[in-house]
Amino acid sequence: MQVITTRSALTPLLLREKALGRKIGFVPTMGALHDGHLSLIAESRKRADITVSSVFVNPTQFNDPKDLAKYPRQPEKDAAMLEKAGCDYLYLPAVEDVYPEGPGKGPFFDLGGIDTRLEGASRPGHFAGVAEVVKVLVETLVPDFLFLGQKDFQQCMVVKRMLDQWDKHHWDSALQEASLNWRPGDVELVICPIIREAHGLAMSSRNERLSGEMRTRASAIYASIQYAEELFPTFSADEISTICANALNSIPDFQVDYFQILDGETLSPANADTQKFVIITAVIVAGVRLLDNKIIIN
Ligand code: AMP
Repeated sequence: MQVITTRSALTPLLLREKALGRKIGFVPTMGALHDGHLSLIAESRKRADITVSSVFVNPTQFNDPKDLAKYPRQPEKDAAMLEKAGCDYLYLPAVEDVYPEGPGKGPFFDLGGIDTRLEGASRPGHFAGVAEVVKVLVETLVPDFLFLGQKDFQQCMVVKRMLDQWDKHHWDSALQEASLNWRPGDVELVICPIIREAHGLAMSSRNERLSGEMRTRASAIYASIQYAEELFPTFSADEISTICANALNSIPDFQVDYFQILDGETLSPANADTQKFVIITAVIVAGVRLLDNKIIIN
């Protein structure tokens, strides 16, 4: 595996790979890797010829500077894990390489309101930061496939929308020749299933911040999602959300931010035509924000 720290070195290497007819798979991460991330690498190796991962703790998606400061960082260990998993290139940039003009300068995409609900309501600006960094990374890597985890379900929807908007409204077709006829709308988004710890907690780099006891207790989050699925559709979405949120809030050190059952295509309240539902929750456990969800097809 080659570790590369600058865009100016990485892009030509990958364009050369593409010119040889190789398909590029990209797995963006913020590091502190676990088996959830490695499952994305495995999927990329199945579908693409070349797998590229990035480890970059993106400052523009943190609305709370304390959260950014506490985010776990272990680049050497991450590089060793990626190499073992068969990743071909690791992009490990400094903030200045990703944002030569400084972070938070955009472009800002019309994210269609998906960005202001749920996570977006509690973390203003978070998804603008996600869209900004994924745009830069995708531009740098010109991938054919982009692998994202369903654990961050809303993020997957935001990235899909960003690629679409970028292609329609912001794509500079002068770049098309330089990027071997690649354009953002051609990137195939592959959403990979949630990998869980043995007792059901969705794996997350943030789990590192929980004590062993809290980690076990946090398995109640997935248990409540499974219970919600059992209650569905005997009870209404609102009734189930209230039952599950109350049950989780009754656990010491748990604070539910949201627990909702929504239309899985739009993240709006479900209606009579909804066929794909998502049970989606964010719970703060001992100060650590944990996300989980499950899709139900009716
Ligand atoms: P992060 O490093 O948290 O930004 O995550 C990088 C990518 O890994 C994102 O697409 C996440 O959705 C995905 N990911 C994180 N945790 C899991 C998990 N438990 N299972 C599958 N994918 C995950």
